[in-house]
Amino acid sequence: MSGPGRVTLVGGGPGDPALLTVAAVEALRDADVVLYDRLAPHDTLPELAPNALLVDVGKRPGHHPIGQDGIETVMVQHALDGAAVVRLKGGDPYVFGRGSEEVLACHRAGVPVRVIPGVSSSVAVPAAAGIPLTHRNLSHLFTVVSGHAPLSDEEHRHLAGLGGTIVVLMGVGTLPSISHGLLTSGLAADTPVAIIERGYSETQRTTVADLGTILHVAAAAGVRSPAVIVIGHVVAFAFDGDAEASELLARAERLGASA
Ligand code: SAH
Repeated sequence: MSGPGRVTLVGGGPGDPALLTVAAVEALRDADVVLYDRLAPHDTLPELAPNALLVDVGKRPGHHPIGQDGIETVMVQHALDGAAVVRLKGGDPYVFGRGSEEVLACHRAGVPVRVIPGVSSSVAVPAAAGIPLTHRNLSHLFTVVSGHAPLSDEEHRHLAGLGGTIVVLMGVGTLPSISHGLLTSGLAADTPVAIIERGYSETQRTTVADLGTILHVAAAAGVRSPAVIVIGHVVAFAFDGDAEASELLARAERLGASA
């Protein structure tokens, strides 16, 4: 290890190492220390970062072994000791990833830091289930919201009034609140909803229902985090190719055209 140390925040994508960027692979190859989250692609780290000390900082829902402050302290300390530190995060570091807090921690400590963007699960996980977030005449905008904490009534009203596609990350726990909030704000009960669990893993699963039934259907299916929730007519694409798809799509297009 030879100083001066530095930190590279790397977006690791949604879990498949094939979705790491070239810049991410290069940063890992040159790393002395890698601090990684559970949702980042970590299985192949011994090959991708052969010279690095690999530290599982283990962030996943309800399980943060050393906490955000602890992560920042360890990250900065390794860099001050002269290490090339990679902070490997799931998806993109700046999408609900607390990446900006880690950049600020580096600035405060006088440690050079750069950020390598990653493929965000907000876009990639729906795509893994065949769902585009936009489609001509169906949806010309998408909104990505965090379901970490329940939204306010006002936010539900704005979301319901926007049209387009709604994507919720960290939303399995707050699904009752967002589905209820959107329904009472006037979003139609037959608006399609898809929940895609564990995107890009062998156990990826898509559960489809509509806004009025999704709570019941998700509970019956035992839906769990990590999952991306997609609300909107583009969900019709989840049935890629079969008869139900064509029917849903035709219906969605009629609705879209009249919107
Ligand atoms: N920075 C990340 C998001 C961090 S929040 C990004 O840009 O993707 C963590 C949430 O992302 C999870 O609760 C889940 O909603 C979503 N997520 C991340 N990876 C996922 C995956 N492989 N499958 C399903 N959801 C995923």
